[in-house]
Amino acid sequence: MDNKLSEQEILYSFEAALRDGHIVPYYQPQINHSTGRMVGAEALMRWNHLVLGFQCPADFIPVLEDHDLIFKADVYIFEEVCRFLRKCFDRGISPVPISVNMSRCDIYRHDYVEEIERIRHRYEIPVRYLHIEITESSAIAGIELMTSVIDKLHALGYIVEMDDFGSGYSSLNILKDLNVDVIKIDLGFLDGNVGGRGGIILSSVVQMAKWLNTPIISEGVETMEQADYMKSLGCNYIQGYLYAKPMPKEAFLDRLQKTQHEMERPSMQFINAVNTGKFWDPDSMETLIFSHFVGPAALFTYQEGKLEILRVNDKYIREIGMNMTPQDFINANPWDNHDAESRKRYEDVIRRAIVSGEEETCEAWRQFFSPCCGKDEICIRSYIQVIGHAGTQHLLFARIQNVTAEKNKYQTLSESEQRFRFASEQANIYAWEYTIATKEMRPCFRCMRDMDLPPLLTNYPEPVIESGVIPEDYADMYRDWMRRLEAGEPSLEGVIPFTKWRVPFLVRYTTVFDENGKPLKAYGSATMVVDPAKEEK
Ligand code: C2E
Ligand code: CA
Ligand code: CA
Repeated sequence: MDNKLSEQEILYSFEAALRDGHIVPYYQPQINHSTGRMVGAEALMRWNHLVLGFQCPADFIPVLEDHDLIFKADVYIFEEVCRFLRKCFDRGISPVPISVNMSRCDIYRHDYVEEIERIRHRYEIPVRYLHIEITESSAIAGIELMTSVIDKLHALGYIVEMDDFGSGYSSLNILKDLNVDVIKIDLGFLDGNVGGRGGIILSSVVQMAKWLNTPIISEGVETMEQADYMKSLGCNYIQGYLYAKPMPKEAFLDRLQKTQHEMERPSMQFINAVNTGKFWDPDSMETLIFSHFVGPAALFTYQEGKLEILRVNDKYIREIGMNMTPQDFINANPWDNHDAESRKRYEDVIRRAIVSGEEETCEAWRQFFSPCCGKDEICIRSYIQVIGHAGTQHLLFARIQNVTAEKNKYQTLSESEQRFRFASEQANIYAWEYTIATKEMRPCFRCMRDMDLPPLLTNYPEPVIESGVIPEDYADMYRDWMRRLEAGEPSLEGVIPFTKWRVPFLVRYTTVFDENGKPLKAYGSATMVVDPAKEEK
């Protein structure tokens, strides 16, 4: 049987339901996962309909919002919470702070703050026992309006919490623009799986919040694994079925008396980044986190010699030019890429950036290793700027530029002409590995960089034909080459004009066979065909 209230029924019975106490707050405890103590609770609206039973807030709240009734309901819940807290004080039971939801529609009501203040005074509740949860979607009313409401709440001493953080598109901008004291992240989107992409997004959101020194409450935590994972990211505050479902006030009162609780919360100061304009600019911020930043960039933390890469964007990887993934960078110890001299140089520039607050630059040779490209020495010019700090930990933003070619040229120029020729010839070799059975191609770093290729191409050679690296009129010939390799041709060679500029390259393939003579892989290389006439000059 469908026990959902229809829209008409909601509108028709709402007033009576409020009056008769059928709409009530349920309380869901928030627990410090490290200590097991209760740190707070959230009041969640419940409608127990006389005939149809419990109604899901997701069903009736949007209707109330659409018909301008949510304000009344929210204020009513706030009052119920105050009444509950009063009862605790009167009985000598020490409560925890209760978070109350503010609908995005309440933001338009200029009297929301006045109204709750009036109620709070009437019940004589110290303001620190009441937190207000706002959602990102309130931003549709405009950031200015949202900011003014938050400022008003702050001026009165309320803690303001950002609900469902990370669910909206503009999360990170909002976080920066709004002075919220606590962030709530809903783990629902992880589908119980903390590995994979969700986990990576989550950890970066958590890092973000940490740099801003904003405490986090994880919501929707259902398993110990999730709670432990959040703890490993430094987030101990948990709200979810793992510890408790939302419960009626009697059960909650009982719980309050039986569980130890702690009132103190971590520091709640929003650390303002130095010269943040450029960095927090809406576009670059989004891109930064989700890898659309225009240039090669990385985010890392530095604390007393400890360097930790938090994020690199795709362009960063391209610029380094090795066949590596963001995870390779994040997992590795970045100092492994530096020798002693380079490390000293890099730490110097970091210290300079910390002291000056300005963008500082340095050049250092680094060694990178990838299974496909092997080892390579790369000279990186970095532009480093501190964008935030938490205690002695600094958050830094680095733009990089691969200046290896420039450096090599400079160095070789000063050596003999013969060596110069040799070096530039070497630099012109493009190499890749083609796996015949799977039609997978793994390009070397130079191919990736100069021809804008990803680390792995499937259904080869179609992607390079499509992208125009191999021109149309050579496509069939090149496809035929792949067929010949598959048929067991030990080597192939020919000149192919690359790209729309038709730069002639001598392309060679050498096939590797297994012990039964079956072709396994073919190693490809391409060298630019140097025009002898030009070389004379
Ligand atoms: P919300 O503010 O994000 O509340 C958290 C929701 O997650 C609640 O759903 C809660 O019962 C649920 N939840 C908590 N732990 C778990 C868990 O471990 N697993 C799962 N799957 N869910 C968990 P609920 O109570 O159904 O409320 C839904 C939404 O309705 C709330 O989302 C909030 O946006 C809105 N709402 C609830 N009460 C009020 C209120 O008093 N005023 C306003 N304006 N909105 C409210
Ligand atoms: Ca909420
Ligand atoms: Ca939430």
